[in-house]
Amino acid sequence: MTPKRKVLVSGAGISGPALAYWLHRTGFEVTVVEKAGASRAPGYPIDIRGTATEVVRRMGILPQLRSAHVDSPRCTFLDAEGGTVASLASHAVVGSVQGQDLEVRRGDLAALLQARVRDDVEFLFDDSIATLDQSGRGVDITFHSGLRRTYDLVFGADGLHSPTRESVFGPEEQFHRYLGYCFGLFTMPNTFGLSHELMLWNTPGRAAALYAVGDTDRLHAFLTFHRPEPPSAALRNPEARRALLTTAFAGAGWKVPAIIGAMRDADDLYCDTAGQIRMPHWSSGRVALVGDAAYAPSFLTGQGSSLALVGAYMLAHALAAHRDHTAAFAAYERDLRAFVSVNQALVDNGGARLFPTTARALEQRDAMLRDLVTMPSPPPRPAHSALTLPVFAPMP
Ligand SMILES: Cc1cc2nc3c(=O)[nH]c(=O)nc-3n(C[C@H](O)[C@H](O)[C@H](O)COP(=O)(O)OP(=O)(O)OC[C@H]3O[C@@H](n4cnc5c(N)ncnc54)[C@H](O)[C@@H]3O)c2cc1C
Repeated sequence: MTPKRKVLVSGAGISGPALAYWLHRTGFEVTVVEKAGASRAPGYPIDIRGTATEVVRRMGILPQLRSAHVDSPRCTFLDAEGGTVASLASHAVVGSVQGQDLEVRRGDLAALLQARVRDDVEFLFDDSIATLDQSGRGVDITFHSGLRRTYDLVFGADGLHSPTRESVFGPEEQFHRYLGYCFGLFTMPNTFGLSHELMLWNTPGRAAALYAVGDTDRLHAFLTFHRPEPPSAALRNPEARRALLTTAFAGAGWKVPAIIGAMRDADDLYCDTAGQIRMPHWSSGRVALVGDAAYAPSFLTGQGSSLALVGAYMLAHALAAHRDHTAAFAAYERDLRAFVSVNQALVDNGGARLFPTTARALEQRDAMLRDLVTMPSPPPRPAHSALTLPVFAPMP
């Protein structure tokens, strides 16, 4: 009997544990290394839509995800003074299919995916790759903990700012496509008495949102603003990040001054630019990338988790179908790229339609929202289901 091939997955977010599950089923001996600890905060809600719902069904976790599903909130759009522009179900705004697509907290999804593979694969938490060398017959890895091992293949599932991508393919700048927005995300006390609802305030080029996931004493607060050039230097320093957001929202109405005040006290502020990762190839030698590391579509599409799940499935499927990893990685790219492209394109041509940057575009968006209110059932987005999954046949 041929010994099992050993593989390493870097990252235990969404794509990492999903890939680990399918690789284990294919007959690989899998290790997952995650720089964070084993437990994580529940986090903001993310969506699993279209083709990705079929991936989680085939993983056998659809019932648990249905239990963890947070009901789509009512979404109220507000003008500069806080007056209501339109109020409608959020699934209508983002093109989700009610009753089929799922919205779950990111931490809940990661925990469910990890639990699905916990007994079958090795997890190394609080550790990460220090050096990666594929000049020999495998990939020699040194971990920051000092552990040294050689793997047949290594997968970078370590997110938008993937260190695996950086070490194998080079600096992020060459693959990062800035989409013209900066954002800050944090939690704050629910001093406004919001429940099961999302409020979104806009002026041209600025948006502030408060999201009450259920009946809760904490709110997810979200601030985003348009900026033609990325403020890369400011994002590196925590105080500069707070100053950037404070300046961008100076003079804003509604509850924005209170949100800015809470942002100053928040210990979980996450700031970044809205951007996509676009690469000519997703593999090099024995290393392949999956999820945000390879093809982050940006939060503006709401499709990051779905691409991560579908990408993990397609990568493992290709490795099950082709023993030669070079052929497998070529098949992975060939069969997934169109699905990635059509989902990344959701933000082309002013597709970031929830966050218009001019007064005219804001008027058009508001008119579109009022039309949506009167539609009985807005159509789902074809991009969400633009791939039919092949049948997974584990290697004999
Ligand atoms: C504000 C915001 C809102 C979003 N909203 C949505 C939404 O509505 N719908 C949606 O589908 N998606 C949304 N997303 C995107 C979604 O969260 C990502 O697309 C998705 O999580 C990608 O999964 P991933 O596994 O590829 O990467 P991640 O989930 O980022 O996981 C990467 C993992 O790698 C780990 N890691 C990083 N560096 C290392 C290292 N050196 N070694 C080991 N491990 C490492 C990280 O700790 C993390 O656990 C949103 C993202 C943001 C930021």
